[in-house]
Amino acid sequence: MGNASDPLVIRSLEFVGGMASAGGWRPEATLPEIAFAGRSNVGKSSLLNALVRRKAFARVSKTPGRTREINFFRVNDRFLLADLPGYGYARVSKSRSADWGPLIESYLRTPALRGVVQLLDIRHEPTLDDHRMFDFLADVGVPTLFVATKADKLSRAAAEKRLRELAGVLDVEEGDVIAFSAQTGEGRTDLAAAVVSLLEAETP
Ligand code: GDP
Repeated sequence: MGNASDPLVIRSLEFVGGMASAGGWRPEATLPEIAFAGRSNVGKSSLLNALVRRKAFARVSKTPGRTREINFFRVNDRFLLADLPGYGYARVSKSRSADWGPLIESYLRTPALRGVVQLLDIRHEPTLDDHRMFDFLADVGVPTLFVATKADKLSRAAAEKRLRELAGVLDVEEGDVIAFSAQTGEGRTDLAAAVVSLLEAETP
């Protein structure tokens, strides 16, 4: 599905629908799935637009009524991309934010799930919500790929220092955190290649 310069050439992309609650409607699990997670404002929509090279793509997930859902897209008739609701937004009241815990947690137990791409802002320490997410992913045993977003906001040297620090906090190898910028396109090829590897990995 790729070529030498682009590991993930997008030939088709379709919005399939949104899952609004644990146990609610979701697409039939006939394809492998890759989910994208992160706190609100981390740059997930920008990253998804850059990954699939469609400007309007992640706008679907930002339409009123869809922001708290898991939005599914079929890519190349090869896999489902699941855009998880951004968590930890300060303006969401405690009672509202409690709503998505069960939704995300029930979704993350989907057997078709091959991996989660977990986004972190390169400038910030992971929040309590981020840690809650990492712990849950580790518990369930879902392969997780870490991406540090908005890399263009730091100098090269500062970005490299932050990648080392983040790898330490996450307890992964330094090369396991991908620096990404939707603005410059940095990391897009690495991310695409990593997503393809998750899809091609042996299932347990
Ligand atoms: P989401 O809430 O996680 O979907 O985040 P968005 O993609 O909507 O981005 C949140 C804000 O960060 C917006 O103002 C974006 O323009 C900005 N942003 C996102 N990605 C980047 C990036 O790679 N570089 C810079 N400089 N800003 C970014």
